[in-house]
Amino acid sequence: MKKAEPNPKANRNIMKLVYGVIILFLGMMVYMGYFLQIKREDVINNSYNPRLDSFAERVTRGEILASDGTVLAQTQLDGEGNEVRVYPYGNLYDHVVGYSARGKTGVEALANFYLLSSHVNLVEQAANLAAGEKNPGDCVYTTLDHELQQAASSALGDRRGAVIAMEPDTGKILAMVSKPGYDPNTVEADWESLASPENTQGQLLNRVTQGLYPPGSTFKIVTALEYMRERPQDYKDYHFDCDGVYENGEYQIRCYHSTAHGSQDFVRAFANSCNGAFANLGLNLELSGFAATAEDLLFNSSLPLSGLPYSKSSFVMKEGADTWEILQTSMGQGATQITPIHNAMITAAIANGGTLMKPYLLDRVENGAGEEIKKFLPEAYGELMTAGEAAGLTELMEAVVTEGTGSAVRTDAYSAAAKTGSAEFETGKETHAWFTGFAPAQDPKLVVTVIVEEAGSGGAVAGPIARTLFDLYMSRG
Ligand SMILES: [Zn+2]
Repeated sequence: MKKAEPNPKANRNIMKLVYGVIILFLGMMVYMGYFLQIKREDVINNSYNPRLDSFAERVTRGEILASDGTVLAQTQLDGEGNEVRVYPYGNLYDHVVGYSARGKTGVEALANFYLLSSHVNLVEQAANLAAGEKNPGDCVYTTLDHELQQAASSALGDRRGAVIAMEPDTGKILAMVSKPGYDPNTVEADWESLASPENTQGQLLNRVTQGLYPPGSTFKIVTALEYMRERPQDYKDYHFDCDGVYENGEYQIRCYHSTAHGSQDFVRAFANSCNGAFANLGLNLELSGFAATAEDLLFNSSLPLSGLPYSKSSFVMKEGADTWEILQTSMGQGATQITPIHNAMITAAIANGGTLMKPYLLDRVENGAGEEIKKFLPEAYGELMTAGEAAGLTELMEAVVTEGTGSAVRTDAYSAAAKTGSAEFETGKETHAWFTGFAPAQDPKLVVTVIVEEAGSGGAVAGPIARTLFDLYMSRG
């Protein structure tokens, strides 16, 4: 049978297409082989930074975005065609987004693998390869809330300190501010002065996760929990008469500004942050139980903060401690130290019925076409306390707001639960101002923890910063 007359032009076109597909396919094979090889070595060597840097030869580092799509970091070309990492908001996200110029920190480190991976479609990858161009890296959406971050930063202003906001029921970190900071756009040029041993400002330190502070009266949460555990039936019967200075033998414990709180029951002593009441109460606690409760709340232990550098909080009081150490430790002074993020995690566990959700910063990874490559989901760490204990602490913390030192967040617009602290750290210096709390009190959506260094009273100084964030968040309805 005679074949149909071939159309030479159509044939040429078909052959072009076939060759084109073959070339693309071969290109992809080479390309995939390259990646698979690198990835395999990556696993074998378990030293992903140097390996991933070779990805950078093939992939343009992807964007880092806030949850609303605001671009927080992107790679641009300068006049000479060199890649430059640009941070459009300068020092607003300095610690949390980090930098990638001098090693990598923050999200730049956490998400390094994704930022240097490319999931554009295979045809585009092959075309880029053929043209000698890089593939665009994947975009990483963070959990960060751009408005809350801005509000937290401007509320803290030029003061030294830290602010963190997170969702207690998911662990999503919405805002993370540490001051003083630096401009990640110029971190390389500024490095000498930032990292100089003479520089005592600690601009490179993320105070939220790495700053260790005496917890001050925020630690009364832990002391109260231990007391509730020892006296579950009648802890509310505790009574103390405060005349501003509690004397025990040779020791004196002063309430803030030597304020005489008068007749205090357990709830009022917590609400007013009465040092005398808590120092006195501490003398009757079982010290081994106290240490165990502190450790249940993750003192002296690793925190579930995979990928973020952090300092370990410490609680060192043991059985046999002397009276002075017990008095001091029970009200949050002494040798106890905590990071702001750890204080936020304890608060979040209380807000979430005792269960701590692991704090996290990466929400999802998308390719350049907006297709989702990976989604990060909330994960429970575990129960730090029972639901009943969490409810008991919530009741105490609500009283702090309604009738005690947390009046800065007292409003008709929403209910809140909190604890303030004014932590002494050096004789003759002003106290560090602490505030940690959540709102709404009975249906918690937002946890905020604030510390302002050498700023005075927690209620007066740190409270209003938290108020700004709660107001903004709750106004969204
Ligand atoms: Zn008092």
